[in-house]
Amino acid sequence: MTANLDAIASLCKRRGFIYHSSEIYGGMPGFWDYGPLGCELKRNVKDAWWQFMVRGRDDVAGLDATIIMHPRIWKASGHLDTFADPMTMCKDCKKLMRADQLESILAEQKKPPKPRNPPGTGMCPYCGGELTEPKPFNLMFKTVVGPVDDPSNVAYLRPETAQAIFAQFLNVHDTSRKQVPFGIAQEGKSFRNEVTPRNFIFRSREFEQMELEFFIRPDEAVEILFGRVVHLSDGPDVHGDPQPEWGWDVWHMYWVEQRKKFLREIGLPEEHFIEYWQKPDELAHYARACVDIEYDFPFGRQELEGIAARSDFDLSQHQKFSGKSMAVFDEQLKLAARKMDDAAKEAFAAKTAAEWEKRGKDAGEARAFCAELFEGRFVPHVIEPSAGVDRLMLALLCQAYDEETLDDGKGGKDVRTVLRFSPKVAPVKVAVFPLVKNDPAVMSIARDIFGKLRRKVNAFWDVSGQIGRRYRRQDEAGTPWCVTVDKQTPEDGTFTVRERDSMAQERMTYEAFLAKMYAALEF
Ligand code: ATP
Repeated sequence: MTANLDAIASLCKRRGFIYHSSEIYGGMPGFWDYGPLGCELKRNVKDAWWQFMVRGRDDVAGLDATIIMHPRIWKASGHLDTFADPMTMCKDCKKLMRADQLESILAEQKKPPKPRNPPGTGMCPYCGGELTEPKPFNLMFKTVVGPVDDPSNVAYLRPETAQAIFAQFLNVHDTSRKQVPFGIAQEGKSFRNEVTPRNFIFRSREFEQMELEFFIRPDEAVEILFGRVVHLSDGPDVHGDPQPEWGWDVWHMYWVEQRKKFLREIGLPEEHFIEYWQKPDELAHYARACVDIEYDFPFGRQELEGIAARSDFDLSQHQKFSGKSMAVFDEQLKLAARKMDDAAKEAFAAKTAAEWEKRGKDAGEARAFCAELFEGRFVPHVIEPSAGVDRLMLALLCQAYDEETLDDGKGGKDVRTVLRFSPKVAPVKVAVFPLVKNDPAVMSIARDIFGKLRRKVNAFWDVSGQIGRRYRRQDEAGTPWCVTVDKQTPEDGTFTVRERDSMAQERMTYEAFLAKMYAALEF
């Protein structure tokens, strides 16, 4: 079914997934809190990403950097000068909006409603009045470090997690003993003073990102090393294990496929998302390709995450601004270059200079780059899969939400609200119910089973109300299995396992249930 965002938001509030931040004071636009079920879901999404992108591979290392960093990082990255959205204001109701979102804001409002808040607060719906000229507005939150509120002490809350990875590239490279190609991953908070936060947790001012910077050799280094560079046109297997001869375009496609695989594994069917390949005029000047994975949200098809091939732009910028060389030394490359005679080196440099010129780059720089390559040194290029935790949670909630109409057994209809989460991300994996409260043997064994399960996964204990109601409460929380302990359990050790999606019930032993659960949780 197509989920309705209001129904989802209402379930999220009612069941403790998501609340307005500072609700008792009227809330803050663009800030959300995650309640007991929401914070479990969030943790599972982040853990799943970490398992898939870091622990499950031997070519990625992790990082957990600070939110406030040296302000020059944002100068080098371009965020201080260019991280700005054109913003426009309505001259009548004073609503501030992103100029590029005007059309969708109007479509959403359909006909302009009357402002609820007094004009001038900037928080009312757009009344449809005359707009000011769009002006750039920097999205970074400013703060002051130390006791003196002076411009020299200004710092920023990071607007993305990626820059810390570039700033710590040398340290991680040296201490993790990993060689290019390898990646550095980070999960954590990011802050953007979005002009129009909207669509529930889709666009917030405080959110979390999961980003990987995967560093690769420049194609020229691959060519010296292996005598050829494999491109997409050669038809490589981008679903298989990475190969050293791959060029940047193959690595990029490999990561697009990896990201899609991850999304499928945590419960987003492929038919609900599409790849949007940015057109050459939409790409940032340094980017060679960028794919947005877009999901069909109830409010339209929107970006879920992006996978960009960013060349050596980021590390080169930090090299320029910090004065520290970001080049790595590749022994194999130096040995391969040693086998080239002077004529071969000259031919290689001339070919590289001509190719760079075709891409609008300087021939002299190309020759200097080749001279470094022959010594085994280069600044790595990077492929960046960048995802938002909250946006992914919203997609999972929309995908999971279902209202199922059932016969109520009395000739009428009954609506069952169920979140059909993949067990991998479900906030509660299993709920344990003693069928009756007044049987000490049943209670004791049920408590024992619950105690064993909660040491392994997030389990929930519920003794209150009829068993049918207990099942329904877990359906709304998205719990894949409910274990009901009855009089037979103390006798033969079996209990009833009720499946959330099919509502089928099956008797099994504790060991059989564990095996079933673990099989569903494994990546
Ligand atoms: P948009 O065009 O939607 O503003 P973006 O292209 O600026 O997004 P990136 O800078 O590429 O986004 O950030 C990477 C990911 O971080 C996005 O794909 C999204 O999942 C997440 N993200 C970015 N901004 C926000 C936000 N304000 N709220 C929630 N998630 C966000």
